Amino acid sequence: MTLLQTSAPDVVRLGARARRDAGVRLAAGSTLWLSLLLVTWWWVTGGGITQLGGWATGLESVGRITGLASAVLLLAQVVLMARIPVLERAFGQDELTRIHRLVGFTSFNLMVAHIVLITWGYAAGSLLASPGTLWDLAVNYPGMLLAVAATACLVMVVVTSIRAARRRLRYESWHLMHLYAYLGVGLAIPHQLWTGTDFTSSTGRQVFWWAAWGVSMASVLVWRVGLPLWRNLRHDLRVAAVVPEGDGTVSVHVTGRHLHRLPVEGGQFFSWRFGGRPGRTRANPYSLSAAPDGRSLRITVQDVGDGSAAVAGLEVGARAWVEGPYGRLSPRARSRSKVLMIGAGVGITPLRALAEHLEYAPGEALLLYRTSGTSLFVDELHELADQRGLVVWGLPGRRRAADSWLGDTVDAPTDLAALRSWVPDVAERDVYLCGPGPWADLVLRDLRAAGVPEQHIHFETFGW
Ligand SMILES: Cc1cc2nc3c(=O)[nH]c(=O)nc-3n(C[C@H](O)[C@H](O)[C@H](O)COP(=O)(O)OP(=O)(O)OC[C@H]3O[C@@H](n4cnc5c(N)ncnc54)[C@H](O)[C@@H]3O)c2cc1C
Repeated sequence: MTLLQTSAPDVVRLGARARRDAGVRLAAGSTLWLSLLLVTWWWVTGGGITQLGGWATGLESVGRITGLASAVLLLAQVVLMARIPVLERAFGQDELTRIHRLVGFTSFNLMVAHIVLITWGYAAGSLLASPGTLWDLAVNYPGMLLAVAATACLVMVVVTSIRAARRRLRYESWHLMHLYAYLGVGLAIPHQLWTGTDFTSSTGRQVFWWAAWGVSMASVLVWRVGLPLWRNLRHDLRVAAVVPEGDGTVSVHVTGRHLHRLPVEGGQFFSWRFGGRPGRTRANPYSLSAAPDGRSLRITVQDVGDGSAAVAGLEVGARAWVEGPYGRLSPRARSRSKVLMIGAGVGITPLRALAEHLEYAPGEALLLYRTSGTSLFVDELHELADQRGLVVWGLPGRRRAADSWLGDTVDAPTDLAALRSWVPDVAERDVYLCGPGPWADLVLRDLRAAGVPEQHIHFETFGW
């Protein structure tokens, strides 16, 4: 185990990366809002407001602005999920996924409004004539059949992403269908260029739209395809050992070339594919369970389904392919000297790596570890306690109530009271949280109630 600094860290230096990330979040949000403002301005100067005076022209006009906003948000979707390192670092995957969901549903609703309103407007405001007009538009206007195919792709992606439907699908099936969104975006482009004067009627408009499409497509090619390919060829990761940890959990040690050049920190995760096992084309996200030391990486995996179960059977020498690193559950999110880490079950893995990688003085970092089964990393946590002054509290037992995140060995009247009595200065700490989604929601509730500011809560959940 690498033992890092044990004296108090310099808080100003610590906060520098967190401040830079806040700047990136502001810049990204502003770019999106300014783009929406710009296309609205072009719609206004193109007569959008004047046309609101008539019924049919008004429908068409609102149809145009909803289509423009939908197109901007659709491209923002592509960028959000392009795994652009600067965005991944600034937002973290949980937050990016939340924004992606919000932007995605909004874009889809606007697209439906665009189709309905434009058709209705072209049908001179007559609902009865609209189906015939829709057929005419689809068949006789350039690029429109492709737009119909694009709509079908996007409908499939959205329907399978509604929570009730998503729960019924295997993750892999849902993910595969989600990739049709790229096809949807691609197929929608021709009708925008061939029929949409809002896209082509001035040089400014053309530059904006071509730049937006170019940037989003290039982001996918560079960061979703190029960078992972280059990293994997460069580092040539191989399984070095598979070590049982008990209770259906194994640790996998991986070595590779030039690992000191892999820009990863304790607490981050990769999406992993392993050669020599069934289902090797499927990627599963696993966090590092030890701080990277420049020579090897370690993950610790609990058997919950076929992908994770197969990890125990990996052979030494098997090839590992990774995408990443991703995640904000790392030292870069830190801006305070005192730290609280709260983990449950296998959610302890990134916190174990973080406890090794973070700088802290003895007694400044506290780890609350909730488990109802075998505790992981017992010896390693003792070692961190002895040598680094990490304070570790186990919270064993079954959950004491459905709306409690604590075990039945705790006798405080409420979870919040327990948290406040154990960590009276919780509001002055950076808090790192990791565990199953519903459990983490309960902890988040109490952290907020205890006064921890939102920007000091860093969390990751292991399910969807
Ligand atoms: C950011 C992150 C870090 C994680 N770190 C760890 C870790 O360090 N150790 C560990 O044991 N587990 C970790 N997990 C959970 C782990 O990824 C899943 O348990 C595993 O992918 C399950 O796959 P399966 O084929 O065995 O089971 P399945 O039966 O296919 O899936 C079981 C559940 O796992 C989730 N899941 C499956 N595949 C994926 C995927 N590709 N992406 C996201 N979620 C998926 C879904 O909720 C699914 O319902 C992490 C999850 C996330 C999102």
